[in-house]
Amino acid sequence: MRNQPEYNILLVEDDPGHAALINRAFESHAHCHLVITATLEQAKSLINHSSPDLIITDVRLPDGHGTELLNPGPGCPTIVMTNYSDEKVAVSAMKSGAADYIVKTQETMTSLPRTASRVMREWRLVIDQKLARERQQRLTAILEATPDLICIANLDGFVTYINQSGRKLLGIGKDEDISRIRLADFHSPADGQKILSEGIPHAIREGMWTDETTFLALNGEKVLTSQVLISHRNNRGDIEFFSTIARDIRHLRAAEERVEYLAYYDTLTGLPNRNELAKRLDMEVSRVKRNQNHGALLFIDLDNFKYINDSMGHPAGDMVLQEMARRLKAHLRGDDTVARLGGDEFIVILSGLSQDGREAVSHAREIANKIRDTIAMECRVHDTELQVTASIGISMITRDEHSGHDLLRFADTAMYQAKREGRNRLEFFSEGMGSDVTRQLELENQLRRALKENQFQLYYQPLVNASMEVIGAEALIRWEHPELGLVSPAEFLDVLETSGQIVEVGGWVIETALKQMTLWLDQGLLSSDFLICINISPRQFLDKQFAENIHSQLERINVPTKNIIMEVTEHNIIHNIDDAIQRMQDLIQRGISFSLDDFGTGYSSLAHLKNLPVSHIKIDRSFVEDICNDTGDQAMVASILALSTHLGLEVVAEGVEELAQFELLKKFNCKYYQGYYFSKPLSDQNMTDYLAKKKPAA
Ligand code: C2E
Ligand code: CA
Ligand code: CA
Repeated sequence: MRNQPEYNILLVEDDPGHAALINRAFESHAHCHLVITATLEQAKSLINHSSPDLIITDVRLPDGHGTELLNPGPGCPTIVMTNYSDEKVAVSAMKSGAADYIVKTQETMTSLPRTASRVMREWRLVIDQKLARERQQRLTAILEATPDLICIANLDGFVTYINQSGRKLLGIGKDEDISRIRLADFHSPADGQKILSEGIPHAIREGMWTDETTFLALNGEKVLTSQVLISHRNNRGDIEFFSTIARDIRHLRAAEERVEYLAYYDTLTGLPNRNELAKRLDMEVSRVKRNQNHGALLFIDLDNFKYINDSMGHPAGDMVLQEMARRLKAHLRGDDTVARLGGDEFIVILSGLSQDGREAVSHAREIANKIRDTIAMECRVHDTELQVTASIGISMITRDEHSGHDLLRFADTAMYQAKREGRNRLEFFSEGMGSDVTRQLELENQLRRALKENQFQLYYQPLVNASMEVIGAEALIRWEHPELGLVSPAEFLDVLETSGQIVEVGGWVIETALKQMTLWLDQGLLSSDFLICINISPRQFLDKQFAENIHSQLERINVPTKNIIMEVTEHNIIHNIDDAIQRMQDLIQRGISFSLDDFGTGYSSLAHLKNLPVSHIKIDRSFVEDICNDTGDQAMVASILALSTHLGLEVVAEGVEELAQFELLKKFNCKYYQGYYFSKPLSDQNMTDYLAKKKPAA
């Protein structure tokens, strides 16, 4: 027996004779189970319960029309049977969804099994097609919804389908005809060629080909993708068509490139960073070994960047760094490298300077000087003119067996030396510099301990008027080193300044001087207008907390603020005059006065002077030193005094060592004096004795 599917057939027939005839006809079709009912009512309930595969119904039934079973659709085909006179009914039954009809005759009824088989077969076909169509629609929906480009091409490579994402990616209109486009046309010429010569043959051979390819959108935009090309075969094994899926990987690639970039470039300036520098430096070192053409390594450190950052904020600092990076780049040739090491440190590799060692050094010096000059050009940030300078250390890249790392260290050492020598200058590395730097670091450590262990002291040097009466004192720091004894500030102030320790130490100086002042006042040793002069270093002055710290010290220590003078140098203010003025005003409002120290040695003091809220200036010792012999100095001092009188400023001449100097200065109308001629700086105890001796008459 063939294994046929079994069918449940519901026969609705009230004519017993017809029912029997049909039943008999089905008897020889064992796979068809006939259930017979005579009423519409019963038929409906049977349909609900047993869901038959086919319904055969007479139109005329005792309780209604057989066509009623057609709506709503019973979910299976229905054959309607009519009498001769009812043909019209049959037609309308067909319209309502009947699968077929027969006009009852002996013959049509006995051949019903065949009709039933055909109807069920056709029904099955319709259902299958519908399912297939639904499946197809679902697949298409998926293809259309996916963000990847999906495309189908025929054997000749012509596109037969491209999904919505593909159209969007390539800029093809929704209804635009694609049938004349070939798969390879979507690509850049090079990749189109690759698809033809490599992709398609490979897909034919192996079934699939993948690679990264560039699609070319209609607007010319290049789209980097990860592409798969698949060949599809039919049952006989012949290739029928190709499909391709391409994913836009531009974001991915951009992210990868960004990661790569971050690893080797500085984001602020766009310059190579330390990693990239190391690579290039090693390359340069081996190049010099090969072609004997010397190069140079420049270690560039901005001198006053920290001040700018502290006083104007980081965004301004960033702008300065960007500007300096731009200037450096603009200054170099294609083969040279400029990198940012971090902070305010830049490195320049000068490549192929000369095969002659001496000539290479001279070229390096020339270029380094130019770099120093460009950096020193005025720099505008937020409407403020800044002047930035740089200290540059240079190590030559020669045939010597030094690694890039060594060279960097040498240049660093030389840079440090340039700073020590007064900044805004260059220094070539030489053997022997190394130990200087070590000494410097040692000093830093010792100074750190000095504050903790109370090794600092304040000395006081009296200020006098033309009648040699004491009118004030300048506080001067000393370091009582456990082994070296008394160390002069010239030896250690620079280190404090570079390391930033000056902020803390300077705070200590202010505190100590003010406390000393209250002591002398309590002892009745001072007149009420006695001036205490305190030196403020650039870094200390520009510290964010500077004014705040002084305010809080004044809360604790009871000194009249009109007695306090802060001595600042042009170094404090030259970089950002507006900011400096604001800082001074803050304290001036509290009653504190400012004095411009070392006057005459700086930049363009006279020009700035009228804008600065200072009440005193101190003529630098170097002018006083030669005043008796040098007419130039005489003229300078005379004009400073004249101008100051005009501007209402008090002038102090410092470094007066001889009577002759004192006499001459008096002739020029100088009011205040300071120097060994009157007194050397004195320890607090000696100053107390000195004041007691000179005590103003009660
Ligand atoms: P300065 O502010 O110009 O201080 C005057 C310097 O001249 C002092 O040197 C003083 O001892 C010296 N001096 C005074 N009279 C004469 C003289 O007649 N002849 C000669 N040849 N020198 C004289 P000192 O104490 O060595 O200080 C050097 C510099 O260190 C000071 O120069 C000042 O800029 C700085 N300094 C000293 N103490 C402090 C401090 O507490 N804080 C800060 N930030 N700087 C300080
Ligand atoms: Ca001073
Ligand atoms: Ca001075």
